[in-house]
Amino acid sequence: MIYSRSACGDHILQLHSGILSGDSKYNLVCTGCSGIYSDDRLKCPTDSALLRTNYSNRQIILKDVPGMGKFHDWLPVHEIITSNAGSITYKSIDLASELGLNNLYISFNGYWPERGAFIKTCSFKELEAFPTIQRLKNSGGSLVLASAGNTARAFAHASALTGIEVYIIVPESGIPRMWLPEEPSDSVHLIQMGKNCDYTDSIHLAERLASLPGMVAEGGARNVARRDGMGTVMLDAAFHMKRMPDHYFQAIGSGTGGISAWEASLRLIVDGRFGMRLPELHLAQNLPFTPMLNAWKAGRREIIKDIDMPDPKKLIHEMYADILSNREPPYSIGGGVYDALCSTDGTMYGISNNEAKASQKLFEHLEGIDIFPPAGVAVASLIKAVENRQVEVDDHILLNITGGGVKRLEMDYSPYKIEPTAYAENANIPLEEIICEKVLA
Ligand SMILES: *Cc1c(COP(=O)(O)O)cnc(C)c1O
Ligand SMILES: [Zn+2]
Repeated sequence: MIYSRSACGDHILQLHSGILSGDSKYNLVCTGCSGIYSDDRLKCPTDSALLRTNYSNRQIILKDVPGMGKFHDWLPVHEIITSNAGSITYKSIDLASELGLNNLYISFNGYWPERGAFIKTCSFKELEAFPTIQRLKNSGGSLVLASAGNTARAFAHASALTGIEVYIIVPESGIPRMWLPEEPSDSVHLIQMGKNCDYTDSIHLAERLASLPGMVAEGGARNVARRDGMGTVMLDAAFHMKRMPDHYFQAIGSGTGGISAWEASLRLIVDGRFGMRLPELHLAQNLPFTPMLNAWKAGRREIIKDIDMPDPKKLIHEMYADILSNREPPYSIGGGVYDALCSTDGTMYGISNNEAKASQKLFEHLEGIDIFPPAGVAVASLIKAVENRQVEVDDHILLNITGGGVKRLEMDYSPYKIEPTAYAENANIPLEEIICEKVLA
């Protein structure tokens, strides 16, 4: 199932040029009303649109460090991130020839030391975790977040390395994914939810916890540190290819990675050295739970729950790449997924479990590295695009392999299990049952 549309009428592409005061590195500009804010807030007071960073350096100059810290100019942090973890880009030979493509580039986000990839929690969520934690370092708060797995691992890892306290709410189905390459530290608090809870229940409990004093909501898609961290996927690709790609393929659950790729492209256009055309977004969801695909197909900015995601728990249960299940994605919101698709002449795909599994196998066989199920969904969408002539043979294509290399990691490390520190039957339980008195006192 593919759906693509060229004109969305109500969207105007905006390249913001807010005024920066003094020598600040960046400010935040509302994608809805163009209001400008110099503090690190998550919301615009006049509307609900996403805020976007506006960096004083219009041309990015790479820092001489390994990992994502090299993109420091376009990350909303003041200290350079020194971890060697980062996105890597390489030109595919075997998958490219299988698909008959001449310029297929792979963004690999995981552990693959032979190619210089050192994301040890094995997904691009680590690109969100480091800048988010870095920003919190000086404020002294504890970070609260909900996760179905990969985000939890990424933030637990960043917490273990920095000592910043994190409270992570995980649905039971995510517990097997709770491991770390190093011994978990006391700064990591893992709260396991009951059997019948899914990721959205975790989000609701996290919202309640974050309202306590001393707790800071991580902010999800509203957190610019997360988005700009993920945006380094596009930046790394542009530097490697010496241009922006024509097409960007990614499997989405929330679509935050798609928004991030779009925003990074907007900055690269202003930079001027990487081309003037926005890469087309090709975003894929795993059937049967595909609320964004359904709304997009119907030409709607709004997701209508009864139509686009009837019986969500049942549908989510049927997904192979179940971490791609988000019941409240930033799709309709100003500056969100809908706008990103409109602005880039984007396409959405619905991928069946069998297609995802077969594509995952094909990729692993041809490229020689293990990948996560969502990455299989992305590969399947690329195969569909080739079959349906959505891309041309010579087009420059960026395929985001959002996670992989766990099997490769296990050859070098013995991962440690993160044990839950508390258990929450549902999202409405009294908070004192899940956090220590020290915090409530
Ligand atoms: C979170 C995640 C995705 C989906 O990313 P979004 O852009 O936030 O929807 C895809 N693949 C992997 C491995 C992930 O961890
Ligand atoms: Zn606004």
